[in-house]
Amino acid sequence: MLNIVIFGAPGSGKGTQSELIIKEYGLDHISTGDVLRAEIKAQTELGKIADGYISKGQLVPDELIIDMLAKVLDSKADSKGVIFDGFPRTIPQAKALKKMLNERGTDVSVMLNLEVEEAELIQRLLKRGEISGRSDDNLETIQSRLEVYHNQTSPLKEYYITENKHTAVHGMGTVEEIFGRVCDAINCVK
Ligand code: AMP
Repeated sequence: MLNIVIFGAPGSGKGTQSELIIKEYGLDHISTGDVLRAEIKAQTELGKIADGYISKGQLVPDELIIDMLAKVLDSKADSKGVIFDGFPRTIPQAKALKKMLNERGTDVSVMLNLEVEEAELIQRLLKRGEISGRSDDNLETIQSRLEVYHNQTSPLKEYYITENKHTAVHGMGTVEEIFGRVCDAINCVK
């Protein structure tokens, strides 16, 4: 299986690049943010809990996310490979992902780290907020999300360097230019 962790700060283009990767490589896509937003819409117990964290720009607790991911992963058992978008966001989540994939006889193939300057991230997220209707795409919540990213999520870079899975991708430029770099990185591990 070709399992890709697409990584980067909020606004780094993970969702956009995931859509293009799916078309090019025929992979399945798991976005924990999308799954949580669907749970909120369906007003499930998990959705109600998650809503409180998401609207403040904080992370949903690891246990809830890991349980949720395990269920989604089981529904993709026959897949050629999966893009993990927005997961893992903490070291415990990364360790849980490795364990879950190893138990299924596979592993993370590569972690693609989309590197984008902070001012550009804020501009992209504010622009998206004008059309997305997302409760967390406003300046105050964007700032919390970026702080959470720096404190809790960015240490995953070191984790994946140690695992020998980290590939930096320059995330500035047009969507097509960035996708060209993403494909080069994927073709190196395929
Ligand atoms: P995203 O759509 O990936 O930007 O995620 C939106 C929000 O959902 C985040 O700001 C978190 O509140 C929550 N979320 C998504 N994925 C995770 C995760 N792996 N761990 C914890 N919280 C998450």
